[in-house]
Amino acid sequence: MKNPHRALICVLLFMTKMTVAADYTLVINHGRVIDPESGLDAVRHIGISGKKIVLVSEKPLTAGRVIDASGLVVAPGFIDLHTHSPTPLGEYYQAFDGVTTALELEAGFFPVLEYGTEISEAPLINYGAAAGYLGMRIFEKNGLKLSSGTPEPKPVGLKGWLTAAKFFFSDFDTALSASFKEQASMEELAALRDLLLTDLDNGAIGVGLALDYVSAAIQEAEMRMIFEVAAQRDATIFVHVRRGIDGDPAGIREVIGYAREYEASVHICHITHNAISNLELFLREVREARAAGVDVTTELLPYNAGSALISSAVFGRDWQTIFNISYEDVEWAATGERFNKEMWDDYYVNRPKGQVIHHYLKEEWTQRAVQEPGVIIVSDLLPMASRDKKVAPHNGAFSKVLGRYVREQGLLDLATAIAKMTLLPARRLESYAPAFLSKGRIQENMDADITVFDPDTIRDNATYQSPYQTATGIAHVIVNGQLIIEDGQQVEGVRPGERILAR
Ligand SMILES: [Zn+2]
Repeated sequence: MKNPHRALICVLLFMTKMTVAADYTLVINHGRVIDPESGLDAVRHIGISGKKIVLVSEKPLTAGRVIDASGLVVAPGFIDLHTHSPTPLGEYYQAFDGVTTALELEAGFFPVLEYGTEISEAPLINYGAAAGYLGMRIFEKNGLKLSSGTPEPKPVGLKGWLTAAKFFFSDFDTALSASFKEQASMEELAALRDLLLTDLDNGAIGVGLALDYVSAAIQEAEMRMIFEVAAQRDATIFVHVRRGIDGDPAGIREVIGYAREYEASVHICHITHNAISNLELFLREVREARAAGVDVTTELLPYNAGSALISSAVFGRDWQTIFNISYEDVEWAATGERFNKEMWDDYYVNRPKGQVIHHYLKEEWTQRAVQEPGVIIVSDLLPMASRDKKVAPHNGAFSKVLGRYVREQGLLDLATAIAKMTLLPARRLESYAPAFLSKGRIQENMDADITVFDPDTIRDNATYQSPYQTATGIAHVIVNGQLIIEDGQQVEGVRPGERILAR
């Protein structure tokens, strides 16, 4: 033998290779890795072991399972701060939009530990909720407990059964008018404070305050109680601010004012949908408050319509003036039919639980908001219960931004868009919910929640007429180290999602 060490070297090399292979449960090679926090945007190779990213390497890695991501972008999994769809269909369509963590923070849920019962046994992606203030109010005022997945609330105690009885003799609005229209008494405020504290103790990810839906009921004392509790606990309030007529900034100024006064942290939901024609002013309010040290952030739902129950408080007011629209701008979600006055008057009284889609925004406002630094992308996906029930096509929100606004229109660059879907939402949450310190990043020791997509083909396909369409270009999705989508196909039987609690 010419070289006596040759055999030994071969054995050592083989062992090294074996060790490396055994170190990773999954490897993603040759992808263009974009990590907004470190600024990395280069071809790298990622080693995953269990639930964690353990190596970001300049050299290809080996493992039992290797994904070749040549020509594809490898990004942190998208974190959606605003979804209302903890259903099997909802998480399926969100996964195909690159979402690895879907959170209900605007409405929240009460009691928070009962959120997502339809998916909790085997979640596909990570999920979680804020404390649902509106749900608490319905419980306190009307004795009804909402249950996740089924729209029918459960009566609790005498108050609940009285409300249930009212449903037989009156409409939805009347039966729940105590919750939606009446102020809270001092005793009720004390009870609501206790419920809020309890759900925060139970791990709610902040406070969900769908204020506009109970605008007539919640007045100063109640707002102060909510902000005081949130500030005391350092919990962010996620708020759908009160609407005035088109463009009135009073609603956003109100919550930023309380945030400043109480040193509370506040997140303004879907800014374009509240600003309407006055977007520049709303964006400036957020910018200036941030510059003055207020902890305020905001988000964009990249669609030009809204969607709500026809019985929502806003449609009991002068909605034509509020939205600056008329009957034909509103669509009955179940069929896609546009309204006229006669149909509206009929449905408003007789079909209060039906969903409507009201088209009231201009595309140029969405294009403007998506470019504003710091604005987070969300879906606001409404409950997807069954495919024969139409919902707004928000299950394409993330792929829409990447396809239309990044690739086709060049309104923002890829890394900036990815930051708005990953790092920025993680940062919004991480001081209160430490689980997010290890999400939204492709770095060693971070959670292996990863979305791999083709930047040349990614696009949303869901439309108002046909919402149940998966996006194009989502190649692989990894949740907690496991592939749930591989080569654009769902991996059967793999459901590695986890419930996320704040602590
Ligand atoms: Zn909202």
